[in-house]
This record gives sequence, structure tokens and C-alpha cells, in this order.
Amino acid sequence: MPVRPLPLTDSFGRTIRYLRLSVTDRCGFRCVYCMAEDAGFLPKAEVLTLEEIDRLASVFVKLGTRKLRLTGGEPLVRPGIMDLVRSLGRHLRSGALDELTLTTNGSMLFKHAAGLAEAGVKRVNVSLDTLDPHKFRAITRWGRLDKVLGGIDAAVDAGLRIKINAVALRGVNDDEVHRMVEWCGERGFDLTFIEVMPLGGAPCSEQYLPLSRVRSELEMRWTLEDTDHRTGGPARYVRVTETGGRIGFITPLTHSFCESCNRVRLTCTGMLCLCLGREDAADLRTPLRQGDDERLEEAVRDAVARKPAGHDFAPGRAGRHAAPQRRMSVTGG
Ligand code: SAM
Ligand code: SF4
Repeated sequence: MPVRPLPLTDSFGRTIRYLRLSVTDRCGFRCVYCMAEDAGFLPKAEVLTLEEIDRLASVFVKLGTRKLRLTGGEPLVRPGIMDLVRSLGRHLRSGALDELTLTTNGSMLFKHAAGLAEAGVKRVNVSLDTLDPHKFRAITRWGRLDKVLGGIDAAVDAGLRIKINAVALRGVNDDEVHRMVEWCGERGFDLTFIEVMPLGGAPCSEQYLPLSRVRSELEMRWTLEDTDHRTGGPARYVRVTETGGRIGFITPLTHSFCESCNRVRLTCTGMLCLCLGREDAADLRTPLRQGDDERLEEAVRDAVARKPAGHDFAPGRAGRHAAPQRRMSVTGG
């Protein structure tokens, strides 16, 4: 029997089972908290090819990664993305991978939902901050709500499970939280609220809405039962008695979730970000492009060993100024 390589473990004993892969920094939207309207994009040569992403992902799978999430930018705008999804699907069929998912703005789901399901994807996270078409336009600058809702319908028809991610924005969608819970509950979608993070200088201080406030507001109308459901990430989950749906709260600014962190993120340029809240990243593109998979494996192990104990940007720790300059579209959300 072949000897299984030791799983990737950091210096604090956390085993890394979850890789988020940003497949592009490009996107058809310009969400106000994520990208400037005139955002420039990386030169093609800096971005990993789909074959390189596949090779790198496969090294992680070999080293014990059980869950891959494709993200971006918008993963579904990358030309050829479905070839990558189909190719990575082989790790699901072999049993090496438990889950292949993606986070999407939903704008291309109408086209790709069926293909995703065929490749073995079982669920997708769709980012949707509002159900109001005008607000949707204002938040995303270039997006159209009807297209996203059509994409969500296509995903449901294809048998994909859906989780909605909504960034909580003060003065923007705080009056919609009940409607979002109701809408998701009726459709059987889980819903996660995300606190806006001060990444890359995103304009968030005026829009920052602590999720403790969202939760208190929800408790006025809904019965929220705490659950012990955990994903190894920063979300805490409750069950809504009235709808049976689950609500997650991702509060990176107000809670320390680092102790149980089992994930790392790969940028589309092949930098491994060991912690969303820190600048430190390891270059995997150089060993990848040298073509020697053994050296690449070693580079991955060395990088993971450097994973820090936790991030710095919780208020009361190092303050918000400690937030890194990378935007989510580069790091991958
Ligand atoms: N384009 C895809 C999407 O929007 O789902 C995937 C990439 S996007 C960067 C991933 C997630 O990051 C989205 O749910 C988005 O709302 C979130 N995000 C982006 N910038 C953020 C910020 N400054 N604070 C909190 N969440 C942010
Ligand atoms: Fe694009 Fe997603 Fe960033 Fe919005 S949050 S601009 S959809 S990458």
C-alpha cells in the first residue's frame, strides 16, 4: 500500500483541511466594500493558469486537504473555469476530497449551475446583500438583481444547495434583515451575515454594523436557537425555530475565531495567505513554475508551518489599522 503523506499541520497543531482558491481577481461587479469602480487587474502572466491551479490544488489534496472552495474575484467569469471544476471533480470521485464548492456573486449561475452539479459540486455560496434591485445596483455598482435571482433559480433546479452570504451594511441593508431571513427560510437556504472588514482600505467605518446589533434585531421577531454547528471557520450558527433555517454570523472584527482555524487561502497569483487578517503570505508560484512537485510539496509544508496563531484586526487588539491592504477580490473571500 502506498504510504499516505502526513497531513498539513501548522506549528500550533492545527491541521489544514480547507483551501480557498482564488481563480481570478476579475469580476463583473464592483461592490463598494470590495473594489474601486476603476479597479485595475493583474497582468495575465502573474495569474496562475488553470493547469497550474489544478496542479497546486492537487498537491493540497494529496497533503490532506478535504475541502476546496473556488472564489475570486468572480470565479465564474474566468474563461475555461468549468474545465477546472470538471478536472477537480476527479478528487471527489476518488474519495480524496469531501467537498468542492464555490463562492459566487450569482451573475453567471444561469449558465453554469447544471455543469457545476454534473461535476460533483453539491452546494454554492451566493453573495446577495439585498433583495431590492435599486440597492443591489448601488452596492454592486454594475450588477443586476434579476440576473442573480435567475441564477439562483437555475442552481436550485440543478439540485445545488444554496447558502446566501450577506454583508451587513449600516444604513444600507439593516432594514432588510427580517426579509432576508424570511426569503431564505421559504426557500430552504442557509443565510450568513458577514461583518464588513477593513480590507484594502475598503470604505467600511461608516458602514460598519456589528452583527450583535443584527442578532438583537432578529431576536425581536424570530426565535434563534444556538447550535453547535461549526465549520472550522469564523461563523457561529443559530437555528430559526419558525423557518427551520440556519443563520450564520461571521464576526471577524468582534470575535477571535483563530484558535480553530483550519483554512488557508491561495491568491490567483499563487501566494498562500496564511491568515485573512495578516499580510504574511508565501510564494508558491515560483516553486510551482519550477516544475518539481516534490519541491512544491515542501514549499507548501513550509508555508503552512508559518501560519500565525491569529489575526490582529479585532478592535481592542491591534485596532483596525492593523488590517492588511489586500482586498478580498485578491485574497479570495
Ligand atoms: N465574487 C464572489 C462573491 O462575491 O461571492 C466571490 C469573491 S468575494 C471577494 C467573497 C465574499 O467576500 C463575498 O461574500 C463578499 O461579500 C465578501 N467581501 C468582499 N469584501 C468584503 C469586505 N470588505 N468585508 C466583508 N466581506 C467582504
Ligand atoms: Fe466582485 Fe465578489 Fe468583490 Fe463583489 S464581492 S466586487 S462580486 S469579487
